[in-house]
Amino acid sequence: MIPSILPTYNRAPLSFVKGEGSWLIEADGRRFLDLGAGIAVNALGHAHPDLVAALTEQAGKLWHTSNLYHIPAQQELADRLVAATFADTVFFTNSGTEACELAVKMARKFFHDAGQPERTDIIAFEGAFHGRSSAGIAAAGSEKMTRGFGPLLPGFKHLPWGDHDALHAAIDAHTAAILIEPVQGEGGIRPLPDQCLKGLRDLCDERGILLILDEVQCGMGRTGRLFAHEWAGIAPDIMMVAKGIGGGFPLGEVLATERAASGMGPGTHGSTYGGNPLACAVGCAVMAHVADPDFLAGVNRKAGLMRQRLEGLVAAHPGVFEEVRGLGLMLGLKCRVPNAEVVRAGHEALLVTVPAADNVIRLLPPLTITEAEIAEALSRLDAAATALETA
Ligand SMILES: *Cc1c(COP(=O)(O)O)cnc(C)c1O
Repeated sequence: MIPSILPTYNRAPLSFVKGEGSWLIEADGRRFLDLGAGIAVNALGHAHPDLVAALTEQAGKLWHTSNLYHIPAQQELADRLVAATFADTVFFTNSGTEACELAVKMARKFFHDAGQPERTDIIAFEGAFHGRSSAGIAAAGSEKMTRGFGPLLPGFKHLPWGDHDALHAAIDAHTAAILIEPVQGEGGIRPLPDQCLKGLRDLCDERGILLILDEVQCGMGRTGRLFAHEWAGIAPDIMMVAKGIGGGFPLGEVLATERAASGMGPGTHGSTYGGNPLACAVGCAVMAHVADPDFLAGVNRKAGLMRQRLEGLVAAHPGVFEEVRGLGLMLGLKCRVPNAEVVRAGHEALLVTVPAADNVIRLLPPLTITEAEIAEALSRLDAAATALETA
């Protein structure tokens, strides 16, 4: 009999009823150290007092009005994002998937209005993840996500990760944009080298196409800069954001330059909930922390410590781990045993990690994790690895 919850997830046998900072707590009181952060969502950890205050204060005033009216918190969040990034304008969504939908629509509309309506194709990459909508799965293109869901939205080309020749050859008179994650998340924590991101920017400029970055997972301070592309000193034309921006409240957005967004006038796109007062009140509170240079300096310091300790862990357990990868506090451990077993051994050691493709486990702690908690996480990872070795 089908369960009352559509069984699209293989869930771990864990159920949390409370969160405190970097900790998740089960009904029986067991405390798990959280290196998953709800898949890079709880950027400020669980139940951060500023987020609780922002949400409850707004909840007592006004929940929802729709985008038929002005929303002060939405205006404030848009202004904060525009001030802190390359973007001139922002559209708010409820999720990363919806941000992907708009990014694709915006790129196509740009060329439509520019008198090049034949430019509709988006070039994306193997191992990518852009969400589970029809555009999202067509953009990622993997067999695992698309099988049985055809006909797929047309207009996507998929190239191997890091194949420059294939990329140059793939751009033609039908290309509208290149879509890429600066650090692949679901694909196994694969950072794109700065040189490659710069090269992509140059290539897009030379060929007159748009660069769309998916920073849904790697953005919002995760890599130690507000957005990951800042490491390469470049800017996209369009960027998708979600996950960390809401700190756990569903919120996403598309950021764009004035030029890239020029086709998106009244009536061209919409969302009933996108950017509602509750979401934006929380988003402003998240931005107030994460966009602060001192906060980002702290992320970098902790990331350096964590990376160094993880290198030691890999050296101590060469039969379990192959390498550390990633950027900032978006880290991955490539495993030599099935990653699901490592995740499970972590649970036994009261530690939460998240599996990814390429036999990697992801370590995506709250950006507010302390140095003492990093040390504790490493000792729990060590215990998990030791348990796997002696099993
Ligand atoms: C999670 C994710 C998405 C999809 O976001 P949802 O909020 O789950 O719709 C898109 N792109 C990337 C890179 C992601 O990590």
